Amino acid sequence: TAAPVATEIGAPLPVLGRDVSVPLVTGGEVTYAALDYAASAPALQRVWDDVAAYAPYYGSVHRGAGYLSQLSTDLFEQSRETVARFLGCREDDQVVFTRSTTDSLNLLAAALPAGTQVFVFETEHHASLLPWRRRGADVTCLAAPRTPEQAVASLDVALHGAPKGPKLVCVTGASNVTGEIWPVRELAAAAHRHGARIVLDAAQLAPHHRVDIAELDVDWAAFSGHKLYAPFGSGVLAGRADWLREAEPYLAGGGATRTVSRAADGTVDVEWHTSVARHEAGSPNVIGAYAVASACRALTEAGLDRLADREQRLLGLLRDGLAGIPEVRVLSLFGDDAPRVGVLSFVVQGWNSSHFAAALSAEHGIGVRDGLFCAHPLVRVLLDAAEGEPGECGAPDAAPGETSLNAIRVSFGAGTPEEHVVRFVEAAR
Ligand code: PMP
Repeated sequence: TAAPVATEIGAPLPVLGRDVSVPLVTGGEVTYAALDYAASAPALQRVWDDVAAYAPYYGSVHRGAGYLSQLSTDLFEQSRETVARFLGCREDDQVVFTRSTTDSLNLLAAALPAGTQVFVFETEHHASLLPWRRRGADVTCLAAPRTPEQAVASLDVALHGAPKGPKLVCVTGASNVTGEIWPVRELAAAAHRHGARIVLDAAQLAPHHRVDIAELDVDWAAFSGHKLYAPFGSGVLAGRADWLREAEPYLAGGGATRTVSRAADGTVDVEWHTSVARHEAGSPNVIGAYAVASACRALTEAGLDRLADREQRLLGLLRDGLAGIPEVRVLSLFGDDAPRVGVLSFVVQGWNSSHFAAALSAEHGIGVRDGLFCAHPLVRVLLDAAEGEPGECGAPDAAPGETSLNAIRVSFGAGTPEEHVVRFVEAAR
């Protein structure tokens, strides 16, 4: 037998679930290969341990006089500072703890000044495409660009022709479908040239790359804890304080108020906080915030650049493996050489993507995702582009000319051992 090939990919960070065995339809068991990090990454063992160490001591924050309340309040506020450092926040920026990226972007949408025009690309995840429209903003949806330069040029033209008034651009840092990295700094410069603000959907970028708000010069960034190796339930909106300070509180309730009284006319008078508390009404998810901060610390200590290098080597393995399968069409907007994070989607000629993903799970213990990935317009554009000949990407039973209605996504990160990628490539063959 051939000697094992030595690689320099290096050890993964320990994550929860790394030893879970799953039964195979073909008999026997295998260690589960989680290749769906873009949906939710497994929590780092280190984050879990941190949370477990703190859990016996948690108390209500902000309003308690007891020792544990004060300890929790300190840890909650220190978590905010840790996240601010992780994101390279400017001095006046605020870090609001939310439930998720979806929640963060809805919060910002609720804080838009009246008459704000919002600019998005059709390539966005629904979380960054839809909240603005629901909040009654005037939304311009730009067509999918085919190069990063085209993205900047198209935004430039749209903003140049827009009427006066407040404007917001919302852009994703790394696509949850193609993994491609967007020219955030250049888009921010274009936005600011025209007096617009920009919010970065960093849900997919932050787990893989350093996101520095000040350096990228974005006004806000949002991300989710459960994609950044913390458990579910916590997210972040970080950035400029002014729009948030002037907006109606996202949730009305305790903690967001300075004073509340019964008015002389029998109504309720309220004075809201102008600090970050304004948008954090109710009892906050202190453990969630603590877990996010722990993940930020763990990633910083492991070295984001080192993790990104390792991930690029895994990506190389995956791409080389898929390149050897003639039926596979990798989905890409910016072309094969475009930089991307550890997220890659494809279709397989003659296969229904859902059947393909189900077979990977049942026969090989590999968890990937199939579907439209909450980015319907983008996946349609990508599938149209991938369809070389009529029906080529269709399911076996698809009518001629019919395109496969969904795709398969493989995604990984700091906890992924090389074996998972190798197993996936062998199974896909
Ligand atoms: N934006 C992007 C780019 C995403 O990939 C996702 C999650 N798939 C979201 C936003 C929404 O994140 P959440 O479900 O945690 O709110």
